[in-house]
Amino acid sequence: MDSNEKLREIGSIDKLIRTPLMERLSMRYSRARVVNALRTITDSYRECIRGGKDVPLSDERVAEDVEALIAGENARSLKRVVNATGTVIHTNLGRAPLPDASVEALILAARGPVNLEFDLEKGRRGNRDSHLEKIICRLTGAEAATVVNNNAGALFLVLNTLSKRKDVIVSRGELIEIGGSFRIPEIINASGCKMVETGTTNRTRLEDYNEAISKRTGVLLKVHASNYRVVGFTESVDLKELSSLGKRRGVCVAEDLGSGAFVDLARYGLPREPVVRERIEMGADLVMFSGDKLLGGPQAGIIAGRSELIKKINKNPVKRVLRVDKLTIAALEALLRLYLDEERIHEKIPILRYLTRPLSEIESLAGAVSAKLNDLFGEDALIRVVDGFSEIGSGSLPGETIPTKLITIRHRKFSAGWLAKLFRNGNPPVIGRIQKDLFIMDTRCIEKTDDIAGYIEKKIS
Ligand SMILES: *Cc1c(COP(=O)(O)O)cnc(C)c1O
Repeated sequence: MDSNEKLREIGSIDKLIRTPLMERLSMRYSRARVVNALRTITDSYRECIRGGKDVPLSDERVAEDVEALIAGENARSLKRVVNATGTVIHTNLGRAPLPDASVEALILAARGPVNLEFDLEKGRRGNRDSHLEKIICRLTGAEAATVVNNNAGALFLVLNTLSKRKDVIVSRGELIEIGGSFRIPEIINASGCKMVETGTTNRTRLEDYNEAISKRTGVLLKVHASNYRVVGFTESVDLKELSSLGKRRGVCVAEDLGSGAFVDLARYGLPREPVVRERIEMGADLVMFSGDKLLGGPQAGIIAGRSELIKKINKNPVKRVLRVDKLTIAALEALLRLYLDEERIHEKIPILRYLTRPLSEIESLAGAVSAKLNDLFGEDALIRVVDGFSEIGSGSLPGETIPTKLITIRHRKFSAGWLAKLFRNGNPPVIGRIQKDLFIMDTRCIEKTDDIAGYIEKKIS
């Protein structure tokens, strides 16, 4: 058969769509969708034939290809994955998994109308911040609060409101970058302010701030050095001192806390991270922090502090640009209410549960998973459970790690990269890390054995 004959043999869409197999597909999906897929598939056959490749044509083959194409189009890009990286708050994996209470509130808000901006008592238009403000104030001791899309947005909004066309004074030791796209100098610039650096990389004193203040100063900005630490001959200004300087000179003091926490993590034997309430007590006019880092909720940027400043912020048109939707409000409100029962939060908020998970529990899960993997890989791989360290991640508690248990796998035939890919292609995908010739999984954030072993079982047996 020459290629012209082969091309003719494919037949018209009209004829192909009428085969029983295609009729069945048209009932499952829409006819238009099937016709569309059929066009794509027959085009690809033609291309193959013109390229001199053999295409074994049959009704079954066509239907199979059409179905695979549609299934591929329907497959979601955003999937649940298993975080075995050893970084608990992993930005690339969506940071904090939400507590059940947040998920329930989220679904309720997603399904139908809610009183987002409706005052049920007075029967008239309400304010979306009303669902969050009171409880944020109760948890932080602040006079007022508002919430925007994320903490980068919160910082932008604060600077743009209080310091547009004015100076923002910031220590040279705090000009941080958090993952490529967030750099303090760039945010200050983009928010319409002029950055005035003070002090040095390792030492900044109160006098440095004092000397930098002028008529043009809008804000004294303090930034929590989230993902690095200056050690050695260092000095930085205490927030209390900076706040009283601000008051004396009539300049606002704002602090970007990054992660921020509502409780002192030291009580769980974890490294200390700034507690929002303490920063407010130390006199900061405004503090900003993320909803999805140590707080353990949805992506959001919370601004808390003096009410006259929050009022100004709410009047800025940029607030409207950065406002949160009903889903974020639902999830965040439910999370915040969990903090009212402080003794239970480490059970109810997944991020805190992972961070405080007893080593014995991590070890027994690692044992169960590795036993299962041993069964599956048999002689092909060397699997061990060893001591290791988890990182908190997302700029919280920089340089601090917590002891954990790791599963290490070395395959006798294949590389660690091959193993990583095998697990990454799982259902759900399991994301671990590679260290030399080992594929490593930290079991701290893994909920159950099946998450890891289930898929591999199907794949290699
Ligand atoms: C993480 C972080 C941010 C950015 O917060 P997002 O909620 O990711 O926008 C800003 N500042 C500091 C100090 C941070 O650690």
